[in-house]
Amino acid sequence: MISRLLQFLDASPVNFLAVRNIADALDAAGFCRIDPTQPLPPLKAGDQIYTTKNDSSIYALRIGRRPLADAGFHLICAHCDSPTFRIKPNAEMTAEGGIVRLNTEVYGGPIMSTWFDRPLTIAGRVILRGPSPLEPLTELVHIRRPLLQIANLAIHFNREVNEGVKLSRQKDVLPILGIISDELERGQLLINALVADINSRRDAAQHVAAADILDFDLYLADTTPACTFGIHDEFLSSGRLDDLSMCQAGLEALLAAPTGDTTQVLAIFDNEETGSQTKQGAGSPFLASLLRRVALQQSHSEEAFLQAVERAFMVSADNAHAWHPNYSEKYDPTNHPVLGGGPVIKYNAAQKYASDAVLASIFAEICRAADVPVQRFVNHSDVPGGSTLGNILASSLPVRGVDMGNGILAMHSCRETGSVADHLYCVRAFTKFYEM
Ligand code: ZN
Repeated sequence: MISRLLQFLDASPVNFLAVRNIADALDAAGFCRIDPTQPLPPLKAGDQIYTTKNDSSIYALRIGRRPLADAGFHLICAHCDSPTFRIKPNAEMTAEGGIVRLNTEVYGGPIMSTWFDRPLTIAGRVILRGPSPLEPLTELVHIRRPLLQIANLAIHFNREVNEGVKLSRQKDVLPILGIISDELERGQLLINALVADINSRRDAAQHVAAADILDFDLYLADTTPACTFGIHDEFLSSGRLDDLSMCQAGLEALLAAPTGDTTQVLAIFDNEETGSQTKQGAGSPFLASLLRRVALQQSHSEEAFLQAVERAFMVSADNAHAWHPNYSEKYDPTNHPVLGGGPVIKYNAAQKYASDAVLASIFAEICRAADVPVQRFVNHSDVPGGSTLGNILASSLPVRGVDMGNGILAMHSCRETGSVADHLYCVRAFTKFYEM
């Protein structure tokens, strides 16, 4: 199971690729992709469907034996976006000696220094001219070789570098892509690389030219594979554990669970790292609309959907902060979950997290039923924490739910540290939740 997680992490450098990989796994398990522009097909107990939004969020359902109005739904949600750098339009900046950098902007809140001096590549989607202006074509791209690097300034030019460095998002973090060897390459290095990558997967008759590329949503990605480490291989080392590890745990659980009384739902949202307020984010009514359509089909009344919402339970799964032995002063004195200690329930007095005593108790009991230990996280009262999906989703889908996640170190580093045992615990707890 951990090898599947590592494969998923490596194959999912950005949101679009994560969604395609989840869709491929659902296809292989017999889920049927539905087209939201068409009426829902007739659904019966055990039917498995999914759909996507913007190629960057995905929603999978296994219909329960009892109608939504009677049994509600069991929802696990997570997010597939992670902090990175987005490549701007007209990105190439040629400097002395023909050295070309790419102009980028920051996506989300990365620890920027962790992106320096490591081989990077490009991943995302390229938009190609389609049959009409309203029907452009999308091609996912993940160039699988080291292509770029953000180079540090030598210590000889900044002797205070180890005292801490303020980084400019415009000046300091631009990656170098290449050296122009021919004037014809000027301004074309990136486009040429995209064309070559796309054509490498196509027959000659289907080849695209630079002029076919209309635009792109492209991001920087680490090229170093995810791995386990530690004397007992007890740790995970990868980018994007937040929150792809929770996406993968939810997927594993959905694929493992049998049809239950309750409808099982897995929702993987985009844009959590920038506030979720997009059509493919947790702030969108898309998931609520999809569930409403299922409820209406079953019971022909809006009432059925409203009853389903009242009966539902949500696990909002987003990574938590594990106790860091070098920085114990940053943690709450009595609630600091440790790596390997099991899934973490998150609390916040201001309700940045959805959990309350009732809902946390329900999740803790699910974990107990799955023989999984559970831990609790609260911020050190002088340290403001982050926020997550649960409460944002509540504005369109006011379900009872808990905010939880596995503890990791170095959240939003290019390379985060997690726990193998916690991942296995989490899959077990999620599977039990779907089965209930
Ligand atoms: Zn997250």
